[in-house]
Amino acid sequence: PGEPDLEALQHADVAGLLPAPAAESDKYGRGVVGVVAGSKRYPGAAVLAVAGALRGGAGAVRYVGPARDEVLARFPETLVHEGPPGEAGRVQAWVIGPGLGDTPGLDEVLAAEVPVLVDADGLGLLDPEAVRSRPAPTVLTPHAGEAAQLLGTSRERVEAGRLAAVRELAARFGATVLLKGSTTLVAAPPPGPGAGGDGPASGGAVRVNPTGTPWLATAGSGDVLSGLTGSLLAAGLAPRDAASAGAYLHGLAARRAARGAPVAALDVADALPAAWRDVA
Ligand code: AMP
Ligand code: MG
Repeated sequence: PGEPDLEALQHADVAGLLPAPAAESDKYGRGVVGVVAGSKRYPGAAVLAVAGALRGGAGAVRYVGPARDEVLARFPETLVHEGPPGEAGRVQAWVIGPGLGDTPGLDEVLAAEVPVLVDADGLGLLDPEAVRSRPAPTVLTPHAGEAAQLLGTSRERVEAGRLAAVRELAARFGATVLLKGSTTLVAAPPPGPGAGGDGPASGGAVRVNPTGTPWLATAGSGDVLSGLTGSLLAAGLAPRDAASAGAYLHGLAARRAARGAPVAALDVADALPAAWRDVA
């Protein structure tokens, strides 16, 4: 009662969330993000998720998957790991899903005692109980079609009731949910037995991102957002804050890159530092 359903993300709030390295920081202190993405068919999704993660402020990005050559060709600073994610070494948050196809590794990543962000193909395989019983928070980043699949409904019904859909997903999975689209919404889970609930009793108000632009409706832009948000999780932001700041910066970067003309997903990643400067 009295609590608003929706709250618009404010510039000043996001500014207060962005991590800044301390004088004595090392790369581990800034956060290591693990990215499980890409496939023989979609190697580019791995490159875009890694691009978002590198620009999101992590101290290091570990990549696990079959697109190591493509990732290294574009980002030589990436630490690549061949083999299962559980053996990749120190990781403070995982991102799994973009362009993944049916590459295994999801169960192993979900068992990790660090935050996990699941996007794209990873969402198709997701069991609510497996997410609710995770030992650490989970963030899901579906678009309307993926949200419909998770809820067992149609895309049209999700679009007609986006607020209800994002809340329902957060409750069902005990996860923070970022529902992408022309208006991006972020819902925190109500408190429950799992590790997901970091919000107030009801899950709190759903946050609305005001920075989106339809120029973001381009292939691969969601993969950049996953990596970026994963980096913010690895830096230690609470799940709802990482998702909110990720969506906010992503939209600003797209506007920065586009300035009224078409952009490609990698342009959005390249504009993230400028967006960060605008906010910080
Ligand atoms: P995906 O659906 O995974 O490719 O991600 C697309 C990204 O673009 C998400 O961040 C969406 O929120 C964003 N996006 C797509 N269409 C629009 C739109 N019409 N206005 C604002 N943002 C959009
Ligand atoms: Mg996507």
